Amino acid sequence: MKVIKEIQWDMGHRVTNHHSQCRNLHGHRYKAEICVEGDLVNIEGVSNEGMVIDFGDIKKIATERVHNVLDHGFMVWNKDEVLVKFFKENAEQKYIIVPFVPTSENIAAWIFKQLDGHIKDKYKTGLRLYSIKLWETPTSAAICTRKDIEKLEKRL
Ligand SMILES: [Zn+2]
Repeated sequence: MKVIKEIQWDMGHRVTNHHSQCRNLHGHRYKAEICVEGDLVNIEGVSNEGMVIDFGDIKKIATERVHNVLDHGFMVWNKDEVLVKFFKENAEQKYIIVPFVPTSENIAAWIFKQLDGHIKDKYKTGLRLYSIKLWETPTSAAICTRKDIEKLEKRL
């Protein structure tokens, strides 16, 4: 079965090569739906009995590894020379330099990699991350699954 936990944060970015508005400095209220799969815990009397995972466990990991890293920060492509220079000269600003154009698709893949392997299968139910659905606006989202990550890694 699958469960979903949602987290939200505010972040700036720009898509340097974009033909239109996205090349400008701007920000979004991002929302990620973190989907985790596994069998239900079937051990009588434990706190997680009848669950895939405690929602609180997903929230804790996602808060530490995604929300707190990105919230009120600016995501910068390492080839965006103007912004890399700006943030290095203004290091009190919160920023994260990444080796990809910060599109929804790439950010979804980055989140997948941040969380994958950090969801511990402590009841041996095959618990693992299934997908990340990243909403960049209320009407636009990208979905990244394990298959997508494997393809992206082959390209590197
Ligand atoms: Zn944008």
